[in-house]
This record gives sequence, C-alpha cells and structure tokens, in this order.
Amino acid sequence: MITLALAKGRIFEETLPLLAAAGIVPAEDPETSRKLILGTNRAGLRLILVRAADVPTYVQYGAADLGVAGRDLLAEHGGQGLYQPLDLGIAKCRMVVAVPEDFDYAAAVKRGARLRVATKYIGTAREHFAAKGMHVDLIKLYGSMELAPLVGLADAIVDLVDTGGTLKANRLKAVEDIMPVSSRLVVNPASLKLKREALAPLIEALRKASHG
Ligand code: AMP
Repeated sequence: MITLALAKGRIFEETLPLLAAAGIVPAEDPETSRKLILGTNRAGLRLILVRAADVPTYVQYGAADLGVAGRDLLAEHGGQGLYQPLDLGIAKCRMVVAVPEDFDYAAAVKRGARLRVATKYIGTAREHFAAKGMHVDLIKLYGSMELAPLVGLADAIVDLVDTGGTLKANRLKAVEDIMPVSSRLVVNPASLKLKREALAPLIEALRKASHG
C-alpha cells in the first residue's frame, strides 16, 4: 500500500489534475466527505488528509510514503529525513515582509530600528532578518497575520502573498521578497528503497504531469 499525504484546499485542488494525469482518481471528494483516509481507483494507493504544516512530519516518520507540501512549510520544518524529487509548480505564491502602507520600512532598517514582526514562519523569518543583520522581535501567530500591524501587535509581518488582494484590503504593502513558494513532492527515503517498484513510476508520472 502506498500512502500519499495531502492538505485540503488549494493544494488538494491543484494536485488533483496531476494525479488525474497519472491515472489516479480519489474515491471521494474531501470537501464533502469527513473521512481522513480516502481510497483511490488504484487498489494499492490511498490518500490521507492532514494539516498542510503536518505533511512533512507524516512523510518524515513514514506514516505517509509521500506527500505534497509548500516550500514555506518545508523551510519551516527543515526538510530533515525528506527526499524532495520534484517541484510540482502548484500553489504558487511569494513569502514577503509586509508593513502598513504609511510605514517607511527602508528608513526603519537604515536607522537600525528594532522591529516587531508577527508570523507563522518563525524559523524562516529569523534566518531572513539575521542575514540582513537586523534585530527583530518575532511574534508567533497561527493565521490572519495581516491583522497584527492594524491593531498594534507588530510593525511588520512575514506572510504569503498571491494576488496581493489581502494586503491591499488591509492597507499593507510588501517591502521585501523572502522566497518564491510552490508545492513540492516529498518522499520518505526508506519508502523509496522498499517500495521503489510502485513509487518510481508514480513520481515519474507526476514529473511528466507537472512539467507538461
Ligand atoms: P492574496 O490575497 O491572493 O495575495 O492571498 C494572500 C492570502 O492567501 C494570505 O493570507 C496567504 O497566507 C494566503 N495564501 C496565498 N497563497 C497561498 C499558498 N500558496 N498557500 C497557502 N496560503 C496562501
């Protein structure tokens, strides 16, 4: 049995066409089913639905043989114990530093101001600001980062931006790019050895589907 870990929402929706191109169709729709384990049209392949941030953990420990995880969450996880053979090119966005529209970020950086930065991505943010030689106080949040500067919790945020609509709606602006983000296929290295006959063709089919 091969187990593929996916998160509901955008990653699931954008992975479906790649799976379909590889001849794989889930037996149920995760948006309507409450099941966390879904069969597929292939007897030897099942899907498990986990929180996006938990995908690397399930694959690292071998509870899933492979999974789809955003580069943002892989960077935060560290990627230990994960083979990353493929950038699937889905769920694309950017990780950025954003501040209120009327905040002069460049001037604050120049005068060495100590900024308070709210984010879900503590590890990545710490590395980013350390590389710039900036002192920041990081505040861990689990969502709705855009709210933090509006109510005085933070001066800046580190968050994902796609269209920029959310930043604009909250009178924020992106002032620094941290990394481009897309979702990657992650594979448990032991699974790849032990189940190579089943996994190698699947990885190859996903490679073809994602690279056109
Ligand atoms: P947008 O308004 O299109 O710039 O989208 C920004 C909001 O969507 C932010 O709250 C982000 O955290 C979230 N978001 C955008 N792209 C992604 C992605 N690929 N994965 C997860 N969250 C995302």
